[in-house]
Amino acid sequence: MPELYDVAVIGGGPSGCLVASALASGGRRVVVLEHRRADAVEPCCTGIVGRPYLDCIQPCEDLVLTAARSAVLISPSGRRLHVASAVDQAFVLDRALLELQLRRRAAEAGAEMVEGALVTRARVSTDVCETKVSGPDGARTYASRVLVVASGVNPGLLRQAGLGQPAKYMVGAHAEVEMDGVDETEVYFLSDVAPGAFAWLVPMAPGRVRLGVLSASLAAQVAGMFLARPGVRDRVRRQPLHIAQRPVPVAVSRRMHGERVLAVGDAAGQVKPTTGGGLYLGAMAAAAAAAVLAEALARDDLSARALSRYEAQWRSAFGGELRRGALARAVYSRLSAGLVDGVIELAARTGVAETLLRSPSFSFDRHSGALLSGLLRCLPGALLHPAGRQSEAES
Ligand SMILES: Cc1cc2nc3c(=O)[nH]c(=O)nc-3n(C[C@H](O)[C@H](O)[C@H](O)COP(=O)(O)OP(=O)(O)OC[C@H]3O[C@@H](n4cnc5c(N)ncnc54)[C@H](O)[C@@H]3O)c2cc1C
Repeated sequence: MPELYDVAVIGGGPSGCLVASALASGGRRVVVLEHRRADAVEPCCTGIVGRPYLDCIQPCEDLVLTAARSAVLISPSGRRLHVASAVDQAFVLDRALLELQLRRRAAEAGAEMVEGALVTRARVSTDVCETKVSGPDGARTYASRVLVVASGVNPGLLRQAGLGQPAKYMVGAHAEVEMDGVDETEVYFLSDVAPGAFAWLVPMAPGRVRLGVLSASLAAQVAGMFLARPGVRDRVRRQPLHIAQRPVPVAVSRRMHGERVLAVGDAAGQVKPTTGGGLYLGAMAAAAAAAVLAEALARDDLSARALSRYEAQWRSAFGGELRRGALARAVYSRLSAGLVDGVIELAARTGVAETLLRSPSFSFDRHSGALLSGLLRCLPGALLHPAGRQSEAES
C-alpha cells in the first residue's frame, strides 16, 4: 500500500505551487508532481501582471524586470490610441525565475517536489485518489486524500479526474525579439489577419522585446506574419529562432470541483478572456482552494458539497468580470478591420478611453467592464461613419 499524502498536486506551474505552499505551510503532507525539471523551464508567457499579483507572491529581488503605466493601441490600418495612467499599472516579470521561485517556496514550505514526473493517469474514488506517474525512478502511484489538478490545459487528466473542461480555447504564441524603437507596450488589433486576433510587444530592456499573440488558431503563424508587417519588420534587428505556442482557455470550466478533487489555474479555465492573462486569476484560485481544502481536511469532509465552497467563492469574486470579458471578446471577434479602425479612431478623438481608465472601477486585472463599455460607446459611431470619414461627416 503506497504512503498516503493529504494532497497530491498535478503540475508545479504558478498555480499548483501556490496551492502546495499554502497547504504545506499549514502542516499538510503535500506532493507536487511536475513533468518539467527546473533546468527545462521555458515558459511560453509574457509575464505581465498587475500589482495585486506582486502583493500575493511577494517577489524576490530580480523578479520584476520593468514597470509600465502607458500603452499604445494600434488598429489594423495603423490608427493609434495612446492610454496612460498616473501610476504603474503593469509589471513585467522574469517568467522563468517566477516558476523557479514558486517551486523553491513550495519546497521550503515542506511540499515534496517530484520533478521529471509525468502523470499518466489520475483516479479519484470515494475513499482515495491515485495518481500514476512515469518518473525518474520508473512508474509509481501516489495515493492522496485529495487531488488538485493544476496541469494547465490537459483535457485527458480533467476527464479522468471527473472534472469539467474549459468551454473555449484560443492559441497563444510567444517569442523574445531583438527589436529597436519599442519604448512602451504596443498592442496591435489584427482583425485584418484573423478575426479576434491581437498581438503585443512589451519592452523588457533596451533592444529586447517580448512578443505575444492570441489568435483562434495558428498563433505562431500569425506572429510570423505580424513580424513581417511594415512598421514592425523595419524595427526587428534579428528574427526569433523559434516562436512557441500553446492553447489558452478563454472560458471558465463549468465544473472545477468534485468529491476529493479540485482544478485550479489554466486547468479550470481561470484566464481573462480579453487578454489570455491567467497568473493573477490562478493565484486567487490557489488561495481559495487552499483555504477550503485546509478546512475540509481538518474536518475530514472531502465531499463535493464541502469542496463546492471553493468554486462558489471564486465565481462570486470573478464570475462577473469573466462574463463581461467573454462578451467583449465575442464583440471584438465579430468586428471587421474597418470597424476596429473606426472604434480606435473614435476612442482617440473623444477621450473615452482616458475617461474609462480613470474610473475607480478600472484596474489591470479588472478591466473588462471599461473595455466593454468603451466598445459599446464607440461602436455605433464607427458603424454610422466608417473610419476616415468621421471628421468629414461631422464638419
Ligand atoms: C503566449 C502567452 C502569453 C501569456 N502572457 C501572460 C501574461 O503576460 N500574464 C499573465 O497573467 N498570463 C499570461 N499567460 C497565461 C499564463 O501563462 C497562464 O495563465 C499561467 O501559466 C497558468 O499557470 P498554471 O499553473 O495554471 O498552468 P501552467 O503554467 O500551464 O502550469 C502547468 C504545469 O503542469 C505541468 N504538467 C502538465 N501536464 C502534466 C502531467 N501530465 N504531469 C505532470 N506535470 C504536468 C506542466 O509542465 C506545467 O509546469 C500567457 C499565456 C500565453 C500562451
